[in-house]
Amino acid sequence: MFINLEIDWPKHVAAGPCKRCVEVCPVDIFRMADGKLEVVADNEDECILCDMCLVQCPTRAITLRKLYEAL
Ligand code: SF4
Repeated sequence: MFINLEIDWPKHVAAGPCKRCVEVCPVDIFRMADGKLEVVADNEDECILCDMCLVQCPTRAITLRKLYEAL
């Protein structure tokens, strides 16, 4: 795993029923389940570091740490 992805849930909730990350992530790391946002941990290794989720999130609720940069 070369990213660490965290969601600030209070910030996410503040955005209302937002699912921009689900719509923009090209490798389906986010999904909606029963109306709630989920991170699909099994897909995290597919991240292409495009930063679209970060750019599109209206409340900056997503933190994506690129672990390879720390090596
Ligand atoms: S950086 Fe791109 S590929 Fe990675 S989780 Fe965000 S939208 Fe998906």
